Amino acid sequence: MSPFLDLPPLTAADFAAIEDRVAALLDTTADVIVTQGEALLPLEAAIRSAAHPGSTALNIVTGPYGQTFGGWLRSAGAEVVDLAVPYDAAATADLVAEALRAHPGTGFVSLVHAEAATGNTNPVPAIGAVVREHGALLMLDAVASVAAEPLHTDAWGVDLCVIGGQKAMGGPAGVSAVSVSERAWQRITANPAAPRRSYLSLLDWKERWTDAGRTVLPHAPAQLEMLALDACLDRIAAEGLPATIGRHRAAAAAARAGVRTLAPLTPYVHRDEHAAPVATTVRTPDGLDARELAAAALRTGPGLPVQAGGGALAAGMLRINHYGAAASLGTVHAVLTALAEALPDGADASGARAAATAAWQAAEQAG
Ligand SMILES: *Cc1c(COP(=O)(O)O)cnc(C)c1O
Repeated sequence: MSPFLDLPPLTAADFAAIEDRVAALLDTTADVIVTQGEALLPLEAAIRSAAHPGSTALNIVTGPYGQTFGGWLRSAGAEVVDLAVPYDAAATADLVAEALRAHPGTGFVSLVHAEAATGNTNPVPAIGAVVREHGALLMLDAVASVAAEPLHTDAWGVDLCVIGGQKAMGGPAGVSAVSVSERAWQRITANPAAPRRSYLSLLDWKERWTDAGRTVLPHAPAQLEMLALDACLDRIAAEGLPATIGRHRAAAAAARAGVRTLAPLTPYVHRDEHAAPVATTVRTPDGLDARELAAAALRTGPGLPVQAGGGALAAGMLRINHYGAAASLGTVHAVLTALAEALPDGADASGARAAATAAWQAAEQAG
């Protein structure tokens, strides 16, 4: 007997209740649509719903996801202004304000909150205030920040907030969600290029589901993923959202402190306040290929959440993914130990672990 088969149907009321729980997690009173696919689905849907030929979008690029958004915006016909920020730092509200002054016709801004791929995080409250003052819509990719850092969709002026379950929530990758503010609905409804009768259509969900009173699901729900999403919301509620966030923050502080003792490695993101709580990226010096270091670390510690950076970052960056269940001092210790042993000249693993423990405890005390 498999617990995954022959399940009772997931009802429209169940689906709506899960959407409401996600809305609470996002701290929003806006409509939340749970989308039946990995988070790239609502990200692409939000962009194609809002962008159109003749529109101008400011795309803030602090990592590879921003590059992906630029591609979708261009293919939707928007004129795209890329605001590129070095991947080892963060965007600032001043840079965004300057870009909006230079391009006053901007109607849409895309921003990634935390980037698991580069290990940085952006100051969303300050950027959101600038975007709101300008009057553009703000889309936020909060896939790697939800449950790892504070996320206040409405208070920060986020019009389209996208999340997925697979990072700090420790849940399924097969469902995701987007919140849509009233302002965003108005502009999407007025956009003749917004997808209709399409898997990417937010308007279809609005018409057939949200505005229809959420009584009949327009499609069969991804039942197992919905149950898993509900279960991981239960687990966050049991731990307490502030505690879940605190655990991720402590993991990042511990990983950074440990890495700083492992010369010649250094944290890739220079400043602590720019470092994402979900993943710590590590810079390897010239002559030490991060792919080889990661492979060596995984030989010592099979299954540890360590990998080389993606694409062009692969040679010089290593990622420690301390999210979900891996946001623990034990996991950070295990990774630091494996890295110390994998370094060509070796390093003091117990010193790294001690630095991590001290930073973890300091982060917990700071609350
Ligand atoms: C993980 C992540 C996603 C989801 O994309 P996958 O590559 O499929 O995991 C989207 N945005 C950000 C910022 C992420 O970190």
